[in-house]
Amino acid sequence: MLNNKKILLGVTGSIAAYKTATLIRLLVKSGAEVKVIMTAAAREFITPLTLGTLAKCEVLTDLTDGNTWANHVLLGRWADAMVIAPLSCNTLAKMSHGSCDNLLQAVYLSATCPVIVAPAMDEDMWMHPSTKVNLAAIASFGNQVIPVSKGELASGLYGEGRMAEPEVIVSWLNNFFTDAQQLKNTNVLITAGPTYEAIDPVRFIGNASSGKMGIALAIEVQKRGGTVTLVIGPTQEKIPLGIHTVNVTSADQMYNACLSNFVKMDWAIMCAAVADYTPVKPEERKIKKNGDLLTLELKKTKDILKTLGKIKTNQQCLVGFALETDNEKENAKSKLVSKQADMIILNSLNDEGAGFCCDTNKISIIDKNGAEYLFETKSKKEVATDIINTIINYTHE
Ligand code: C5P
Repeated sequence: MLNNKKILLGVTGSIAAYKTATLIRLLVKSGAEVKVIMTAAAREFITPLTLGTLAKCEVLTDLTDGNTWANHVLLGRWADAMVIAPLSCNTLAKMSHGSCDNLLQAVYLSATCPVIVAPAMDEDMWMHPSTKVNLAAIASFGNQVIPVSKGELASGLYGEGRMAEPEVIVSWLNNFFTDAQQLKNTNVLITAGPTYEAIDPVRFIGNASSGKMGIALAIEVQKRGGTVTLVIGPTQEKIPLGIHTVNVTSADQMYNACLSNFVKMDWAIMCAAVADYTPVKPEERKIKKNGDLLTLELKKTKDILKTLGKIKTNQQCLVGFALETDNEKENAKSKLVSKQADMIILNSLNDEGAGFCCDTNKISIIDKNGAEYLFETKSKKEVATDIINTIINYTHE
């Protein structure tokens, strides 16, 4: 239920705006307090009188009425969530670029609460590359996107782009607020990505880890209200704003960052593909191409997971990853013991759709009480949900 939740509803210009009357009704019925902001285009589709009557409040439309100024900063602070439904293509573009030419944009830009959008547009607009880029941009700012549905469109065509139904939006919000409480006051350390070990000033030993799995875990923890510290090696991936990130390059830097943060953590999820060996003495000058053979002397890096396993308290939950090619399960089980971890997430390079750079992963989880969980191949986002659910269950046992 949305009891006492303060919802700031932004309505933009789309035929789906007529459904916001039902949406407001459902929000109020489920206990929410609703304030409404409409853009000028939205007022072409449904009147402020209708929405204001249902929301039992005055509908805000302009930054100023000539004499007074609408305090956009306080509106964003009042709300527990700002919901923009329907989100038109035009408002999406403005959100992506940070323009501020109406009250809705000013509130959006100054909102400190979570922002959730329900896009609505015809399929061709929905499929346009600029729409995709803009959606990816606002998602990377930490905004939540309620998926569009497929069906009859205003154009008379059938396809993707319909705004989620009001019932779906309300149940999405219910889940959002329930999830957002789950890891409240839980501090989680996550390592992600590869490490680069310098050979000389221009060369390094690295690996193909993208950092995607660790970032997906960080997003999932944050979505559930946890506080994340993401220690990440070199990556091309976008990290949503709002995730506390410590960028590192080498295994040694990752070790130091983890050690200095671990004491405050409730969980640590070691997802990084840390180099096992590093050059004993990186050359200060670029190595010249002399001779047919070049021998590098390597030494073992410090094992972060193992070090944390030695110092962890009974209140802390330590999770490691194992990427194996042979004897997967036996190796994962022995890692669980040797690293004194609570749980090992195993992914095998023998499974299709599992591993470093792809967007999917296939995992199984083994915990120190002997429980084993097998999962299908899924997107890394869904895998992150499975992992976090499993850790929550384990820590609540
Ligand atoms: O021993 P192995 O490298 O296969 O173990 C993998 C697990 O250990 C992963 O969770 C990885 O993040 C972690 N690890 C680490 N520090 C290292 C090497 C691996 O934390 N130096």
